[in-house]
Amino acid sequence: SPSIVWFRDDLRLADHPALRAAIDRDEPIVGLYVLDEESRDIRPLGGAARWWLHHSLASLEERLRERGGRLILRRGPADRIVRETAADLGAGAVFWNRRYGGPERDIDAGLKQSLRDDGIEVRSFAGSLLFEPWTITTGAGTHFSVYSPFWRACLAQPAPRSPLPEPRKIQGPSRTPASDDLADWDLLPTEPDWAEGLRETWEPGEPAARRRLREFLRDDVDSYDRARDRPSAGATSLLSPRLRWGELSPHTIWHASIESGDSSGFLSELGWREFAWHTLFHFPDLATKNLRSEFDAFPWPRLSPAALRAWQRGRTGFPIVDAGMRELWRTGYMHNRVRMITASFLIKNLMIDWRRGEEWFWDTLVDADAANNPFNWQWVAGSGADAAPYFRIFNPELQAKKFDAEGHYVGEWAPEYRAEDGQPPQPIVDLGATRKDALAAYEKVKQAS
Ligand code: FAD
Repeated sequence: SPSIVWFRDDLRLADHPALRAAIDRDEPIVGLYVLDEESRDIRPLGGAARWWLHHSLASLEERLRERGGRLILRRGPADRIVRETAADLGAGAVFWNRRYGGPERDIDAGLKQSLRDDGIEVRSFAGSLLFEPWTITTGAGTHFSVYSPFWRACLAQPAPRSPLPEPRKIQGPSRTPASDDLADWDLLPTEPDWAEGLRETWEPGEPAARRRLREFLRDDVDSYDRARDRPSAGATSLLSPRLRWGELSPHTIWHASIESGDSSGFLSELGWREFAWHTLFHFPDLATKNLRSEFDAFPWPRLSPAALRAWQRGRTGFPIVDAGMRELWRTGYMHNRVRMITASFLIKNLMIDWRRGEEWFWDTLVDADAANNPFNWQWVAGSGADAAPYFRIFNPELQAKKFDAEGHYVGEWAPEYRAEDGQPPQPIVDLGATRKDALAAYEKVKQAS
């Protein structure tokens, strides 16, 4: 009786524990992907994420087929679809790698039970995090709310396991089960086709992910610490969408970095990803609720749609902010330093609720991540896991001087600020006055705490 491998945020063949276990079971294997837009509380994917998913699934389908396997696509509420598919195929086993979001865990737990009740073997595996959230606890047995001690506790654990090899051959089913046509899922934009910049920038799929990892470790990792904060330096790994979609496992990246002799701070960035997921696991409403409840008292003024629109479109009159927002719109990516600057500007100079910014990033980032995105927005807002939440207000002009001193980044994404005859947008706010207002608002929160 066949085994079903249910693929979710792990669109790869190498270091895929659920796939490995299915191979070891020695029965025909069917890969399954479910596009679930119906289950309760599942957050719908943003536009850029849908684009990525389409191409990454196409790549995975091809790679499974080359090895003799199959990927079938189904759309609908996951609990129903997985049970139906298992019944259809007369499956003897269903395997998957674990997910850590609240609604996803509820679905998976329910399914585990109902499939087992039907006599089907169900097993789940750790494939997407180096340290599963519940395994890292403080001395008092609680979860962590500060990064440094969290990461120290992770590093005190046994080292993450070595990555599993990529299978060469996969035994497919004797009859090909019915599958949706990927094109019918309408994951790609049609009119207007805004994905040109995404196509120019990215090649989704596991093979390109592995190439990028090799290239980064060969060419860039040595200068990572020195150059990672400069947005025009091309010094970071660009692996975030690969991790988001699981085209690479964190174990693969971890071990490849160590083997390459990396001693930079690169691995500690993976630690931030672990910490964001640790936080989401213990606080499933991270995208909608303040982690620190005293921030519920934040006196957000009434939303100015025009200001939000100017920010989204990169027309604020602040060169580095506009450059960042345009990089995002064009490529589905923005450099980390500029993410911090643009987020701080939205919250502290435009006084717009961090949730509006989080939603825009969710829709436009190819690496839009259920934990990393709200975690970092809350960090910038001060409502999150930051030890000094009340006073950090970036000045976009000083930040640009420091991190884009020669103006290369602004020149690339917002060239009118650099050209002699350019006609840049005028600043939509006064930095000094808005800074004062923000400090006053933060003072209110502080008093409420
Ligand atoms: P590298 O510097 O090469 O880092 C390697 C990996 O470490 C990244 O791919 C990522 O998986 C992880 N990482 C690095 N920094 C962070 C961080 N601060 N928090 C969590 N993980 C981190 N990252 C996302 O993956 N998805 C998001 O939706 C996302 N939204 C963000 C929103 C805001 C407002 C901010 C300030 C940051 C956000 N980040 C997000 C974190 C960070 O900006 C990106 O992970 C990073 O820019 C990706 O580029 P890279 O792969 O070249 O990073």
